[in-house]
Amino acid sequence: MLKEPESLITARDLFKKYDNKVAVDRISFQVKKGEVFGIVGPNGAGKTTTVNMITGKCIIDDGELFILGRDAKSHDRAIRKLMGVVSQEDSLDPDLSVFENLLIYASYFGAISKERISELLKFFDLTQYVNYNVMELSGGMRRRLTLARGLINDPSLLILDEPTTGLDPQVRHDTWDKLLQIKEQGITILLTTHYMEEVTKLCDRVMIMHDGSIIDMDTPRNIVTSRYPTDVIEIKFNNGSDFSNLLGSLKEFKFSHEFSSKFGLIIPQKSEDVMAIHKKLIELYPFAYPVRRPPNLEDAFLAITGTSLHETE
Ligand code: ADP
Repeated sequence: MLKEPESLITARDLFKKYDNKVAVDRISFQVKKGEVFGIVGPNGAGKTTTVNMITGKCIIDDGELFILGRDAKSHDRAIRKLMGVVSQEDSLDPDLSVFENLLIYASYFGAISKERISELLKFFDLTQYVNYNVMELSGGMRRRLTLARGLINDPSLLILDEPTTGLDPQVRHDTWDKLLQIKEQGITILLTTHYMEEVTKLCDRVMIMHDGSIIDMDTPRNIVTSRYPTDVIEIKFNNGSDFSNLLGSLKEFKFSHEFSSKFGLIIPQKSEDVMAIHKKLIELYPFAYPVRRPPNLEDAFLAITGTSLHETE
């Protein structure tokens, strides 16, 4: 058996175009063994296309892609056997039971192990629902079943496309707990998401995509702290508010600022100025509800792309 490489995915200048639209524009990255690696970006950034090239769902137009040390262009079948894939859409068979859904999927891999199915049912708290028809399950149970299905072949690498999109907050948190347990078992995870909380909770490293390109790649913490050395001050505003006046009133301080359509951020350059700026804004512009808070990944995204992640939804 081949030794597992330290980098489970290596992409170099990966490129994909649909008609005249470049979906993924010569991106290079590595996913290291044991990490949870996130691909983040607004709709249309190229996340799903990147994942589809990795899972073999779409053809690579140019560049190189190695998965588990194998060339993705030439070893498709072998790679698929070593990889678990949970796609965005719920592709469970609605006519079959929980057990049958797992059994059929296992048969694609040639090795049907009832022990593996029992193990996964137990891990995902589905044992008591084994004979339920898929249509009788709640949204959370269906999600757990799709995760179980993705792990049926005991993969070293699990690929998840937007694993919690559309789930209610409780189910989302339960899914995160399961994913963290899967990581603890030594499985490397690549996921796409547009939830910053998901990135913060799960990801060791994250790659931010915009218009088919990578615009940053680092730990979530480094992405934030490299841009925001101090707490920031968030201000709300209504249309028509005069923000040049507000900014003008802070002339004695060194700061930068960013605006989305819904809020503004004042980013002091020196930590000793944070309190003074906040105080001044409360005095002069109480209607803007100035709030001092730690910077987050959503802010970094706004700084990088000029749009809030959710403005594009
Ligand atoms: P994301 O997953 O970040 O939302 P996608 O990878 O789905 O982004 O899409 C990237 C770009 O490629 C978008 O402009 C999208 O419209 C385009 N695209 C994706 N899939 C197709 C396709 N099958 N045919 C034509 N254009 C596509």
